[in-house]
Amino acid sequence: MNDCLFCKIIAGEVPSGKVYENDKVYAFRDINPQAPVHLLIVPKKHFDNILQCDAETAAALTEAVRAVAEQEGVAESGFRIVSNCGRDGAQSVNHLHIHLLGGAALTEKMA
Ligand code: 5GP
Ligand code: ZN
Repeated sequence: MNDCLFCKIIAGEVPSGKVYENDKVYAFRDINPQAPVHLLIVPKKHFDNILQCDAETAAALTEAVRAVAEQEGVAESGFRIVSNCGRDGAQSVNHLHIHLLGGAALTEKMA
């Protein structure tokens, strides 16, 4: 997907605030944070959204949520994960991503 922003971020063609990476997953800081900790966790393989995701990738994303939450110090305090899908989900970047929000008591409005 040549034209995909998050594929370019994963490839290092667009700069990002990387916080975590393994062979299947990349995580970086959202450019427009909605909470003190606002990360995007993405599979390195391009999927448009959660509906396309295979089981192996889903497992890798779940494991990365755990690793990133611990690394960012929100595993104990708690956090929220969100994956917007499609038009009514207000998905703006069509590369599957999980928002991880934390670092403060969240309201229902955040992401
Ligand atoms: P969506 O609305 O698709 O669920 O989330 C896309 C997210 O990507 C938004 O929260 C937006 O702030 C973030 N975003 C968009 N462009 C960039 C970028 O170039 N760099 C980073 N780090 N985040 C971005
Ligand atoms: Zn992509």
